Amino acid sequence: MSEFVTVIDHPLIQHKLTIMRDKTTPSGLFRQLLHEISLLMGYELMRDLPLDTMTIETPLEAMNAPTLFEPAPCFVSILRAGNGFIDGLLSLVPTAAVGFVGLYRDPDTLKPVEYYQKLPEQMDKRRVMVVDPMLATGHSAIAAVQNIKDSGAQDIRFLCLVAAPEGVDEFSKAHPDVHIYTASIDRELNDHSYICPGLGDAGDRIFGTK
Ligand code: URA
Repeated sequence: MSEFVTVIDHPLIQHKLTIMRDKTTPSGLFRQLLHEISLLMGYELMRDLPLDTMTIETPLEAMNAPTLFEPAPCFVSILRAGNGFIDGLLSLVPTAAVGFVGLYRDPDTLKPVEYYQKLPEQMDKRRVMVVDPMLATGHSAIAAVQNIKDSGAQDIRFLCLVAAPEGVDEFSKAHPDVHIYTASIDRELNDHSYICPGLGDAGDRIFGTK
């Protein structure tokens, strides 16, 4: 499993995640902590972003200085909980483009069905980072990444906060070329496909809908 996944176990991330897991943590604080974690995880996620060089003039002389490769990277949020990562990631890379993929689970087939998709142009030239706080069964993540590949993207990473071992296995089988970054691999999925111990429904906790 380890070749497909990196657990970002920085103490600040682990501490903040513990507060997020606590069921008494209110939505406002939950959202704030996810924002802070997105800055810390984003730093690791983007450690190997491609660089170019540009010529600038310092007050002393001209130099060829490193700058982010263009076109800028793209963050893709899997709706709706993925949006909790976007503001933090955008504050790290304000020039990044943002795409969205919305999927729901068909109650009969249990398969993910797309209801919304908007991706920027030049996906084939960008580093693409797909974000969703919870990698549970992996079905939506697998479908979303397939859509993103169909748009031409070749250089893709997946960022989540908490993953289930089952989701990591399924996702890595479907997309062995897409590395997963997570703050935790939890114990297991329960019968309702929730991650245990987990943190509950990430969308509800971010947006206060329950
Ligand atoms: N989605 C969530 O928000 N939480 C889970 O535990 C599983 C899927």
